[in-house]
Amino acid sequence: MLLKHTTKEVRERKALTVNPAKTCQPVGAMYAALGVHGCLPHSHGSQGCCSYHRSALTRHYKEPVMAATSSFTEGSSVFGGQANLLQAIETIFTVYEPEIIAVHSTCLSETIGDDLNQIVIKARDEGKVPFGKYVVQAATPSYVGSHVTGYGNMLEAFVKYFAEKTDEKRRQINLLSGWVEPADMRELKRIMKVMKVKSVLLPDTSDVLDTPMTGKFEMYPKGGTTIAEMVSMGDSMQSLGLGEWATEKAAISLDNTCKVPFEITDIPVGIKATDRFIQALAKAGRVSIPEQISEERGRLIDVITDMHQYLYGKRVAVFGDPDNIIPLIEFLVDMDMKPVYIVSGTPGKRFEERMTEILSERVPEAKYKNGPQADMFLMHQWIKENPVDLLIGNTYGKYIARDENIPFVRMGFPIVDRIGHSYFSTLGYMGGLRIVEKILSVLMDKQDEICLEEKFELVM
Ligand code: SF4
Repeated sequence: MLLKHTTKEVRERKALTVNPAKTCQPVGAMYAALGVHGCLPHSHGSQGCCSYHRSALTRHYKEPVMAATSSFTEGSSVFGGQANLLQAIETIFTVYEPEIIAVHSTCLSETIGDDLNQIVIKARDEGKVPFGKYVVQAATPSYVGSHVTGYGNMLEAFVKYFAEKTDEKRRQINLLSGWVEPADMRELKRIMKVMKVKSVLLPDTSDVLDTPMTGKFEMYPKGGTTIAEMVSMGDSMQSLGLGEWATEKAAISLDNTCKVPFEITDIPVGIKATDRFIQALAKAGRVSIPEQISEERGRLIDVITDMHQYLYGKRVAVFGDPDNIIPLIEFLVDMDMKPVYIVSGTPGKRFEERMTEILSERVPEAKYKNGPQADMFLMHQWIKENPVDLLIGNTYGKYIARDENIPFVRMGFPIVDRIGHSYFSTLGYMGGLRIVEKILSVLMDKQDEICLEEKFELVM
């Protein structure tokens, strides 16, 4: 028993978090910055923070993640890190030659009160930012929010800095992506191509964190949203944000500064969320839905119908980030599964409302919680009280899955003990097929493992 100290009895906790179902804001800020072409993320804090953020991303994506740090020492921790950041900006532009440095703060620099905005202005005034190069900054203290809000804050910083409104309206939409895999961003671009909707996808980590082996190291891979694309976002017809937690701030900022109206919809996971996304895309891009998309939907429905007997009534526990698990829970309910336990470490009032909307009629027994005390310990306690047939979440779920002998599907961030997540999309109808395949594989493996010999089926 790896988690032998987990007890069945759930006690109300106000302060303690045990095995959080989230990670820290700068990890998200770093991931968002990597989705911008020629951008070097910069962590304003200690070397330890930067190493952790880089290694969290490197382990998940199995790609080297480049980032710089202000390398706080005891002195900067007491007197502030302005001198370190000024020096860092000068050195980075000279040695590593990025087009943009995306600076995010850390717990330490926020606690001592470093004002990133003021330091970046000072760097510009002192000529440390060469002509045609840029420094963007976002506040990401980790004692609030999570990696998802850090991602959202950096996204907002990019559009605030770059988007420009001119007199020329462009026949394009802004697609602000929530935190999804490089393969998912590739899938979003494929869908938009099929739909014939011209768009700017921000950020875009495809061809950045899923690059082919060429034998040559590229500090700045060919992928990522370009500066010109970000500038043009101010003239787009509309913004479409995928995921309230990660994209709403950026969408509001574009509306406030450039008068680009916006709509926030879910990340297209499963049937209903993809339906809403496709409809929103068709409306924003003023196009009709092509036959190819309808066929993809039909294929997904067909597979679910064929395999419904294996999915029906299965009790599921899910943990992860709100933007990702809200549509996933809806998808599970659509397949007649029962998501009974749901936790998300990311705070936000809308989570409970959305869960109630989705679950109150179809799965009234469901328990759900988000915020700091919605941790893996609580999820394990719930499972101990009344077991489930399936667990869905990131790598950290493997301890619970092993202790309780539950089939486990890895989805979310981070996944550090398997591959595939960054190469095979789980978005759209095609991605829905991948989710169904993953779920069915573990459920059927379990059935093969435990059934009586006379019930052991060749054809399932
Ligand atoms: S100190 Fe704060 S910013 Fe640094 S790794 Fe820890 S939680 Fe993240």
